[in-house]
Amino acid sequence: MTAVDGAVAARYARWDGVGQPITVVTTSAASDPGPGRVLVAVDLATICGSDLHTVYGRRDAPHPGILGHEQVGRVVAIGSGGRPRYANDAEVAIGDRVVWSLTASCGRCRNCVWGLEQKCLHLKKYGHEALDSAWPLNGGFASHCVLLPGTTIVEVPDSVPDTVAAPASCATATVAAVLDAAELDRHRDPTRILITGAGMLGVTAAAMADAIGAWVAVCDPDPVRQETAYNFGADLVVGDAEEVPPVDVALELSGSPTAVEACIASLDVGGRAVLAGSVSASQPISIDPEHLVRNLMTITGVHNYRPLHLRTAIDFLATHHDRYPFAELVAAAADLDHLDDALRTAAASRLLRQSVCPAC
Ligand SMILES: [Zn+2]
Ligand SMILES: [Zn+2]
Repeated sequence: MTAVDGAVAARYARWDGVGQPITVVTTSAASDPGPGRVLVAVDLATICGSDLHTVYGRRDAPHPGILGHEQVGRVVAIGSGGRPRYANDAEVAIGDRVVWSLTASCGRCRNCVWGLEQKCLHLKKYGHEALDSAWPLNGGFASHCVLLPGTTIVEVPDSVPDTVAAPASCATATVAAVLDAAELDRHRDPTRILITGAGMLGVTAAAMADAIGAWVAVCDPDPVRQETAYNFGADLVVGDAEEVPPVDVALELSGSPTAVEACIASLDVGGRAVLAGSVSASQPISIDPEHLVRNLMTITGVHNYRPLHLRTAIDFLATHHDRYPFAELVAAAADLDHLDDALRTAAASRLLRQSVCPAC
């Protein structure tokens, strides 16, 4: 199954910790990545908000390491002694264009068996680990990435551009998990949905909710993001959640504690709030338990996603990327040597996902 004998020339962007410049390192990847492993050449990676949380010290991360966990690429080698497969049981083949899950999970521990694969007790997470000689090239800001057994690999149709496919591995799949947790089939028809935060997650959620016929309100104080939300199917866009009539489902995707409070306050009887934006330390909020009890409300948290949600994400993008302007959310690619600049631009941008082309 090995592509070629010997090694493949590779480069990666080494992150040495908060405040340190990125260093591009030249290395090589074994052309036989090992049993069950897949070597992918990265065509395009996008900078996720959580990469920025790491770079700017809003959460701890091991270093030196390779950041990046949203990317699309092509399979260049498959390890001997293993036969990685897609969900439909077809074998992964050299040349396939693929995205892969943020996490690799064992499939056997009690969290995996319980359907919480993203909380596997033996979890490995792309773009979140220290450099590791046993798992080289473990992040997306690199020319190549080594995929471990237990990674969900999803083939990407040629009709889906790189700019649309790359964010699937985190943003789009997370939103698929959020909508799954919302249990929309429990609610009124059409379901009334409030989304707080109109960044990449928020507008993706608006499009997914609109595509299934929901009534969608989006709340974001930024005028540029507000206009974008309309282009992604929002029926109502406001700067203050108090302007939104009661809803069945509230999706909190901004991470702001006041937005969390607004989501809970917006719910009608039987409503459900799904919180997914709060991924760095923030102020606690207070809740009124009597209000929750008397109104039969549910509050649930979603972090990352299950393997099936990455497939949902790619299916959704393949079907709908022409209807909603996903490609316009991603700026032209920087090369690996300019990753520092791209990270700074991403931190200053109100909407656009910055992208990185490791082979450029
Ligand atoms: Zn992410
Ligand atoms: Zn596990």
